[in-house]
Amino acid sequence: MTIAKRPRIALIAHDRKKDTIVALAREFDHFLNQCTLCATGTTGGRLVDEVGLNVDRLLSGPWGGDLQIGARLAQGEIDAVIFLRDPMTPQPHEPDINALVRACDVHDVPCATNLSTARLLLASLAASH
Ligand code: PGA
Repeated sequence: MTIAKRPRIALIAHDRKKDTIVALAREFDHFLNQCTLCATGTTGGRLVDEVGLNVDRLLSGPWGGDLQIGARLAQGEIDAVIFLRDPMTPQPHEPDINALVRACDVHDVPCATNLSTARLLLASLAASH
């Protein structure tokens, strides 16, 4: 795993995790401002509006946003994924979610799927940059 000098981070949160990702982004906003960020549509909108981050907004998850992130990742364009999934709610795009997590494993890209892991990952990236 090699991380770009300016880390390229993808952020995704399911609906019931969106407040959590906004709070997480506020906590790490200084570091995230030094990163190249992309996000699924609605998540990205909240990060732009509520945290003031500069985010490349892709399609919404159910419309293919996870797949767009997976494609970038497979091309070596993503260094880490923060993916706050809602384990209690069935998602219409479950196959896309699985494809993205699989792509992370295939390409050995760190993927945090819960808040505690996301904090550890961001803290570790921030410490080494
Ligand atoms: P969203 O997509 O950020 O556009 O809501 C995330 C998802 O639900 O997969």
